[in-house]
Amino acid sequence: MKVIRSISELRNEIKGRQQEDLVGFVPTMGYLHAGHASLLQKARVECAIVVLSIFVNPMQFGPNEDFDKYPRDEERDLMLAKDAGVDIVFLPQVEEMYPHPSKTQVIVSDITTKLCGASRPVHFAGVTTVVSKLFHIIQPDKAYFGLKDAQQVAVITQMVEDLNMPVEIVPCPILREEDGLAMSSRNVYLSAEQRKEALVLSRTLFEAEQWITTDTPVLTADIRERIISRISASPLAEIDYVEILGYPTLQSIERLDIQNEEPIIIALAVKFGATRLIDNIIISIKRK
Ligand code: AMP
Repeated sequence: MKVIRSISELRNEIKGRQQEDLVGFVPTMGYLHAGHASLLQKARVECAIVVLSIFVNPMQFGPNEDFDKYPRDEERDLMLAKDAGVDIVFLPQVEEMYPHPSKTQVIVSDITTKLCGASRPVHFAGVTTVVSKLFHIIQPDKAYFGLKDAQQVAVITQMVEDLNMPVEIVPCPILREEDGLAMSSRNVYLSAEQRKEALVLSRTLFEAEQWITTDTPVLTADIRERIISRISASPLAEIDYVEILGYPTLQSIERLDIQNEEPIIIALAVKFGATRLIDNIIISIKRK
């Protein structure tokens, strides 16, 4: 496994590959866990060369967000990467990615204003800009993204389609802890009590899936209210949003009995203390 910190070295390394070798790319912010490893393993199966990037991208954090205290552990990350069979780890410093103030941004409109985009206004412009840069540097054939960040998958897929980027976006399922909590680098911020209370998120999403598939409620507002009341029952939970939308269009849906071919997403963001957790479930509604 090669650890590369400079863009030019990475370009040279990738240029030297056999033309027919597929390059699979997994962009991350590090502090890796089994969720990241599942993306790397999928890339390993499908591609001859697996590139992992670890870069905490300042551009996607708002001024009062957790950029400075985002967890970092390079040594541990490199061990996990090696175990997952990664060929190249790209670990640039901020100065390597942004040597001077950038005047160019890649912005996807509309779908970036909903869900996390509503409470994190600069977030997606930072994500699409850095992912575009990484795609240009690495020129992967396939790039792997987790549905833990389902809106991000929708936004990146839209960007790739709109800008004809020659890369296939591969969405990967959410990995959860045994008790249901979606794996996240930010889970380390949680106190033991918050960690326990945070289980309300996955539990409520799975319950909602049950209501929808067995009780067949029709109005999404009713389902949303039920979810909000379940989560609000936890004294430590402070809801940012609970939304039920079409996926991946993120269009509003009022009723579930419309002739809608599109699956729905129930997406939520909830704070426990200073830690904001997101989770979601995507459900195909097949009405008779
Ligand atoms: P991050 O380091 O949080 O930016 O995540 C890097 C990639 O790993 C993103 O595509 C995430 O969606 C994905 N990821 C993070 N957590 C999980 C998880 N629990 N299951 C699956 N993918 C995940």
